[in-house]
Amino acid sequence: MASATSDAILERFRAVGALLEGHFRLTSGLHSPGYLQCALVLQHPREAEACGTAIAERVRGLGASVVLSPALGGIVIGQEVARALDVRAIFAERQDGRLMLRRGFTLAPGEKVLVVEDVVTTGGSTRETIEVARAAGADVAGAAAIIDRSGGQQRLDVPFHALATVALPTYAAEACPMCAAGSPVVKPGSRV
Ligand SMILES: [Zn+2]
Repeated sequence: MASATSDAILERFRAVGALLEGHFRLTSGLHSPGYLQCALVLQHPREAEACGTAIAERVRGLGASVVLSPALGGIVIGQEVARALDVRAIFAERQDGRLMLRRGFTLAPGEKVLVVEDVVTTGGSTRETIEVARAAGADVAGAAAIIDRSGGQQRLDVPFHALATVALPTYAAEACPMCAAGSPVVKPGSRV
């Protein structure tokens, strides 16, 4: 998997139903031609480990000594990337709506951090996690994800690596081109 192409990664996602293509109503109420649920891949530890190893090979040169992930989505893949890099894995979680380090996790001043997520949509939670590290005085060496679903449109001020990039636009129902074309919309996971 280390040399797997973006297409091969997406094929593995399709194989376990973690990437569905069609016409979906997401939890947000928005419509999209795709549904992505990384947890369906990461529930298989060997798949999670393979994804972590593949990310680690791309980011090893950044020299991070700790992986920081946002809870919950980033925890499993963060653990696997850290295992492959043989560094610590810690996570940030929300308290009163704000992402922060808890449970006694600390970052040393100047410590090189790699931020790892399962999927980057707009880059918002990645940026927030980067700020958590910087607020602790650490140095963010880069960020990585299994899937970049922004189609490469995330705007991060650190080196960013994703195993696969996919453009999955979302539409308000009244502006959805698939609805306009008369295609029936389904909830992800429901069998049609
Ligand atoms: Zn629609």
